[in-house]
Amino acid sequence: MSAPRRRRDRVLEWLAEHDLDAMLVKSPANMRYLTGFTGEGFAVVAVVGQAVSTDSRYAIEAKEEARGYKTVMSPDGHLAGAIKFLGEIECRALAFESEAMTYGEYETLRKKLRGVKLKGVKGVVEERRRVKDSAEIALIRQAAAIADRALAPLLATPPLGITEKEFALRLQTEMLRAGADSIAFDTIAAVGPNAARPHAVPGSDVLRRGQMLKVDCGACLGGYRSDITRTVFLGKPTRQFREVYSAVYEAQQAAVRAVRAGVEAAELDRIARRVLDERGYGDKFGHGLGHGVGLQVHEGPGLGSRSKDVLQKGMVVTVEPGVYIEGWGGVRVEDTVLVTARGCEVLTNTPKLEFG
Ligand code: ZN
Ligand code: ZN
Repeated sequence: MSAPRRRRDRVLEWLAEHDLDAMLVKSPANMRYLTGFTGEGFAVVAVVGQAVSTDSRYAIEAKEEARGYKTVMSPDGHLAGAIKFLGEIECRALAFESEAMTYGEYETLRKKLRGVKLKGVKGVVEERRRVKDSAEIALIRQAAAIADRALAPLLATPPLGITEKEFALRLQTEMLRAGADSIAFDTIAAVGPNAARPHAVPGSDVLRRGQMLKVDCGACLGGYRSDITRTVFLGKPTRQFREVYSAVYEAQQAAVRAVRAGVEAAELDRIARRVLDERGYGDKFGHGLGHGVGLQVHEGPGLGSRSKDVLQKGMVVTVEPGVYIEGWGGVRVEDTVLVTARGCEVLTNTPKLEFG
């Protein structure tokens, strides 16, 4: 049985358990996961029939990718097409993704589907996406290798005298050249004090000797993403940089060593935080330790201090502590790792700085 079909069957089981006839799927990642369809629109998953509602721009993709799904199109839009199909299959109780639908779309459902029970749900498909199958892991592994092939040479001899924007552009070009379908997310390249912003947007500041450079990037292949951050120093590292970097590096390595199936995600965050606390940087690590990676660059499980998640074999997560000091800069080290029964496999392998 194909992966989309197996995934759809699990959603159908869930619907049956909850006395629902159909689920209306809007989230692009969930739609791709369930149907294989990469275009825009809605999917309807029901025991009595499945459809993708789209428009002529994606008609060929819908037919080729969403096997076993009827393609529906309405001149009144994607939602209208889905509603028409729900009428055809006589849906009486419908689940919809409360976090993906707009309020306007919800009002349309209420108006057009009078008498149909509407139930907003969240996480139904997302929870099933957390543990990856072997085909998904293979794509993430390749996406990670592609990012490494682009990033490692650029960081081995960083080009000086170009802007952050130009650096990001070169990195993105190299990822596409190395086989990426697209970039996984907007590349971050930040020099000097700009590195104090965890999600800095590349600008016109120039890479010069005597500055740190923080780079966060990822490649996308077959819909699956990788995520890696490296921080380097252009020229001879200052003492403060070495201190901060060593603290972040050791926090990251300690957390990576602790990753395995069965460990609480929050415990990993604590392990990294403890190292940074001991070095006096605990209050400079504002974000969570990491996140799941897959069809979206940020998905479950969460690896923050408040996470209730427990890691399972087959999850792919990032481990990315950082220290950010306003006016000075910031250091983050991030790897994407595959959780295994006894540990993890690090998928991102661009060399890291190491100070002995
Ligand atoms: Zn990242
Ligand atoms: Zn990340």
